[in-house]
Amino acid sequence: MAIRLNDDPEVVRRIREGLKAKDGYCPCRLPKTEEFKCICREFREQMADPDFEGYCHCMLYYKTKDEKGR
Ligand code: SF4
Repeated sequence: MAIRLNDDPEVVRRIREGLKAKDGYCPCRLPKTEEFKCICREFREQMADPDFEGYCHCMLYYKTKDEKGR
């Protein structure tokens, strides 16, 4: 499993600004609750899922699926 930032530095910059403005809570969701503190629960679950590959909700992070048999 590998996690990387979005390849587009402009996206990374915007999301990071949003995170700062929201005290570390997800800029793409309204509530400032523990569930949405970055890294949010949803993406933590996706990171734990060996079959998941893709971006987090905000597209800040990208998770690569586990490579098997390579
Ligand atoms: S969606 Fe991405 S940026 Fe937003 S809280 Fe989750 S991990 Fe962080």
